[in-house]
Amino acid sequence: MSGFVFSEKPIQIQSGEGMSLFADDGTEYLDFGASYAVAATGHCHPDVVDAVQKQAGELLYVQGSYPVAARTELYDKLATLAPGDVSNVWLCNSGTEANEAAMKFARSATGRSKIVATKRGFHGRTLGALAMTWKQKYKKPFEPLAGGVEFVSYGDSEELAEAVDDETAAVFLEPVQGEGGIHAADTEYLQSAREITEETGSALVFDEIQTGVGRTGTLWACEQANVTPDILTTAKGIASGLPLGATLCADWIAEACGDHGSTFSGGPVVCAAANATLDVIVDEDLPTHASDVGAYLAESLEAATEKHDLPVREVRGQGLMLGVEVKRGSNRILRDLALSEQILALPAGRSVVRLLPPLVAEQEHADRFVEAFTEVLG
Ligand SMILES: *Cc1c(COP(=O)(O)O)cnc(C)c1O
Repeated sequence: MSGFVFSEKPIQIQSGEGMSLFADDGTEYLDFGASYAVAATGHCHPDVVDAVQKQAGELLYVQGSYPVAARTELYDKLATLAPGDVSNVWLCNSGTEANEAAMKFARSATGRSKIVATKRGFHGRTLGALAMTWKQKYKKPFEPLAGGVEFVSYGDSEELAEAVDDETAAVFLEPVQGEGGIHAADTEYLQSAREITEETGSALVFDEIQTGVGRTGTLWACEQANVTPDILTTAKGIASGLPLGATLCADWIAEACGDHGSTFSGGPVVCAAANATLDVIVDEDLPTHASDVGAYLAESLEAATEKHDLPVREVRGQGLMLGVEVKRGSNRILRDLALSEQILALPAGRSVVRLLPPLVAEQEHADRFVEAFTEVLG
């Protein structure tokens, strides 16, 4: 084997359909991680597969300076679906690149360099986005990173007000912290972040790379707090598994964004996948579905905890972005879920089991998860 960096799991996945992944030996696994929220419409949604196949047969790629129908359609769709006036679209190939662009655009538009980010926050692994990421393990070996980032406690409006001043280019926030353990900001915190950045003329950036495209119960998590940022970044589930990130900007950012570019930006095949994905999410009202099934799953987990006295400290999150904080190591639980119960889920730190199933998950899948989880923890 010549691969490195990723530690591989002892299951070889061959195919997928809806909520299920199938190993090469035929074993079916119920997917409660969606590969970190990427398989938003479920594995191999037929509309997405059709759109990709059709576009691949027509045109794989042409440089971004030639308009192509699939990209124009995606610009229009995202502009329509974006919260408020955050309707100027920059496309790229991953979440971390969407955040790099957001950093650059915010600095260019404000003429300032300082960035405020949050403890426990995660924004990606390239040297700029990594500088805004909290966990030392991800950063230390790669220093020096992009400078000028100050960290504040997530959820503390007073600390935020103290850190943000007229030298601040941007404040970066996840409306629900994912990697950091599934912590949802309350409405007042997001609203105060809006007020503070407005007062200082700083850009408010919401990183919706994990929370976006319907996962938390609305298309964008910030809609639940009724707060519109100046920049919104998204990626993960937006093209059902093809690599696409987007940086959505208000006019004042887009007008002074500076020079930026990327060869693969907005290639027609990924745009076709994103168009089909967004159509499925909107037409099937998957955000509302995620809200309903997520609430049902959270309630069922709480009920099972009580009934069977499970070692669970808390069930938290929004929609189908849930964290179960357990009183023992999450890795062992995840391994047992996979190998004994054929259910795949994710960690968020050592003590949180993270659930990010495809948005098409049904109550029967939630029931199956709770049953397996009870079995493994009991
Ligand atoms: C996954 C993630 C990123 C990074 O996205 P990549 O596509 O892995 O670069 C950034 N921010 C948040 C909130 C994420 O969940």
